[in-house]
Amino acid sequence: MADRWQVEVDRSVCIGSGMCVGAAPDGFRLDSARQSHPVAPVADAAESVLAAAEGCPVEAIIVTVAGSGEAVFPPEE
Ligand code: SF4
Repeated sequence: MADRWQVEVDRSVCIGSGMCVGAAPDGFRLDSARQSHPVAPVADAAESVLAAAEGCPVEAIIVTVAGSGEAVFPPEE
């Protein structure tokens, strides 16, 4: 099952730690203001992207299934 994920970074929350870039160098990039951006807003599901979302110290990374909008991270309560 090859899900496509929609990846967003809440830049009002991101503190620019860069941990997501370390976890998923293909998935995230820091801009000159040290704010994280997904490299692509919709991408193939990847463990590294999930690990980055789980590892973000402020939970700024929101991952949903593209199309259905089903929560991937943070998981639905
Ligand atoms: S890990 Fe979280 S806080 Fe750190 S740069 Fe990435 S999105 Fe921002």
